[in-house]
Amino acid sequence: MTRSPLYWRGLRVPWIAPWSAEATGKPPIVPRRRVGPGIGYQDEHHTDRRDDVLWIRVPLTPGRGTPHFAGVHALRQRQAMDRDLCQVCGRLAVGDRPDGRVLFLMHSASGRPVSEGELTAAPPVHEACAREAVLECPHLRRGWTAALVKHTPAWGVAGILYQPRTLRPRPTSSADSDGLDLVSYEDDVRLRWVLAARMVVALHGVEEVDVASFAGSAAPAGSRPPAS
Ligand SMILES: [Zn+2]
Repeated sequence: MTRSPLYWRGLRVPWIAPWSAEATGKPPIVPRRRVGPGIGYQDEHHTDRRDDVLWIRVPLTPGRGTPHFAGVHALRQRQAMDRDLCQVCGRLAVGDRPDGRVLFLMHSASGRPVSEGELTAAPPVHEACAREAVLECPHLRRGWTAALVKHTPAWGVAGILYQPRTLRPRPTSSADSDGLDLVSYEDDVRLRWVLAARMVVALHGVEEVDVASFAGSAAPAGSRPPAS
């Protein structure tokens, strides 16, 4: 998979952003065969699952078509979380700092600080890449929050929950704007009925970053979250 920066109309496209040629596949969901109740694909391949959880199918063709800056490519997101890759450039994000901590940056309209134990589907990021992202990413310009983090244990997935009787999507009231529900790796029941689209980690040993200095003096008005 390419790690060369991709550009669109002069802007560097974040590594985890999906392109229009990477539209999510929608193979029919069927009852899982052989192994207990749950969902599966008719033509399921072993690469469709991670830790026995069914994952959404998406093509890997970065650079083809137009990018969706605010979107997330499910498999690059998982790779980034799994391997501590920077969400902006796709390169290893650990080892940047002598204290071993890793930077996390996420959209936050209110600028609310990251809390201890908070769950996130936003992969880590280099400091330089984060600085660039808050200046250039249209999504993050609406507000962001950042923290240095010591430990990021895998927590679970975010995905589309399916109704066991009808095999149709049935998001709960706590699903996000994409219809994704959070499901813990300890929730054996719901893991069988979720179509995963994001890997989710917990953030521990959190220290909020001074976002004003982090953005640098060149940050244009409106790129910082409102004071809380
Ligand atoms: Zn980077």
